[in-house]
Amino acid sequence: MAKIRELSQILTDQIAAGEVIERPSSVVKELVENAIDANSTQIDIFIEESGLRKIQVVDNGDGIAADEVPLAFTRHATSKIYTHEDLFRIHSLGFRGEALPSIASVAKVTIETAVMNENGQYMRIKGGIVEEARPNISRKGTTITVEDLFYNTPARLKYIRSLQTELSNISDIMNRIALSHPEIAFRLVHEGNQLLRTAGNNDLRQTVAGVYGTQIARRMKGIENEDLDFKVKGFISLPDTTRASRNYLTIILNGRYIKNYALNKAIIDGYGSKLMVGRFPIAIITIEADSLLLDVNVHPSKKEVRISKEKELAALIQDAIAAVLRQEQRIPSGIENL
Ligand code: ADP
Ligand code: MG
Repeated sequence: MAKIRELSQILTDQIAAGEVIERPSSVVKELVENAIDANSTQIDIFIEESGLRKIQVVDNGDGIAADEVPLAFTRHATSKIYTHEDLFRIHSLGFRGEALPSIASVAKVTIETAVMNENGQYMRIKGGIVEEARPNISRKGTTITVEDLFYNTPARLKYIRSLQTELSNISDIMNRIALSHPEIAFRLVHEGNQLLRTAGNNDLRQTVAGVYGTQIARRMKGIENEDLDFKVKGFISLPDTTRASRNYLTIILNGRYIKNYALNKAIIDGYGSKLMVGRFPIAIITIEADSLLLDVNVHPSKKEVRISKEKELAALIQDAIAAVLRQEQRIPSGIENL
C-alpha cells in the first residue's frame, strides 16, 4: 500500500486553482475584485490573446506592505476577515485568501505594490515558486501581471474555448463589475483596443452609458423600492428595447455581481405580458441588504449567494418594475421629455 502523505503547498494550490481559476475571465475577476477591496478609484486592465498570453491589472488602491507580499500569495491568508463573526458579516468581495496563490500556481506572475509613503516591493513567481523578490520604488497601488496562464496545466489549457469566447467572457464580467461600482473608473484594453471605459463619477446612468452606450442609457427608466431589510435601485429598459438573451440582466448585491435565478425571474415578471416571447429586457438592479441576511460562503467563485427573505426581495423588484411600466403607459411617449 502507498503511504499517506500531506500534499505539497504547490499541489494544494493547483488543486484549489481548479475550482477558483477556470479560465482567463476568472483571473480578471479575482484580480479586479482585489483592487476594489483595496479602495481603488481607478482600475485598468490590459489583456493580450484573450488573457492567455497576458492579464495585467493596475490599481491605485491601498497596496500591500512590502513584508506582507509573500503572505498575500499564501493559501488562506487574508486581510479581510479575522474572526468567526466576520464570516457572517462580509463587506469585502474576497475573504477566502485563495485567489493569488491559486493564480500563481498555474501561471507566471509578477507583482509591484506599494503602500502610501512606504517603499514598495517587486516579486516574481512562476508555477508557485518565488523566483525573485526585491524592494522597488513605485507609486501607491498594485500592479499584478499574469502571463502564460495554465502553461503548466495542459489539461486546463485544452478546456479553453475559442479566443473569441474567452474574450467575450472577460468583457462580460468586466461590464458587470463596472456596473456594480459606478464610483470606480474602469478601463479594459485588449491588444490596444479599448473595450470598456467608465467615468467613475458615481453616476449609475453614466456607467450604463459606458457599458451599453448612450442611446440605451438615456432611454432607461429608474426604479426604486425598499422595505425594512432591502433597498432596491436601478435602471430598466422599456419593453421596446429588448435582447434575445438574459445576459443583459445584472443583479448587484452589496457591491457584488451575483447570479440568481429567482431575482432574474422577478425582473421579467415585472414586465408582465409586455415582453415578446424569447425577448428579455436590459436591467441593472442594485440591492443593499444587511450582510446578516446573506450567506456568501456557498461556492468558491462567490457568484451564488444565499439570501434570507429572497421571496420578499423578489416581490420588491417585481413591484418596482411593474409600477414604473404602468406609469410609463399612462404618459404618452414624447410628453415626458418636455
Ligand atoms: P482574498 O481576496 O480572499 O483575501 P486573495 O488571495 O485574493 O485573497 O488576496 C490575498 C490578500 O492580498 C488580500 O487579503 C489582500 O490583503 C492582498 N491583496 C491582493 N490584491 C491586492 C491589491 N490589488 N491591493 C491591495 N491588497 C491586495
Ligand atoms: Mg481576492
